[in-house]
Amino acid sequence: MNTKEMFFCDCHDLEHHFIVSTWDEVDDDLLEIYVRLRNDFPWYKRVWFAIKYIFGTDSANFTVVLLDIENAQRLAETLEDFVDKRAGGSKD
Ligand SMILES: [Zn+2]
Repeated sequence: MNTKEMFFCDCHDLEHHFIVSTWDEVDDDLLEIYVRLRNDFPWYKRVWFAIKYIFGTDSANFTVVLLDIENAQRLAETLEDFVDKRAGGSKD
């Protein structure tokens, strides 16, 4: 079973979200975190963002995500569940 948890930034900007994804069936000790850039800008703006990114003048597209306590707790539970399943429940 694939489990996906979506986390939203406390600033409520939809660009500042990420998804944590794990699979029960896959024998893989990797957890995926999806961070996406907006792609709904016109092409010329995306080219401009790319140029600024290449020259390191703007990092606004990769910015901070602020998690409130509820989301932080949910993230901790998601990571703990993943580690428990993959590491054989080694806590305690
Ligand atoms: Zn934010």
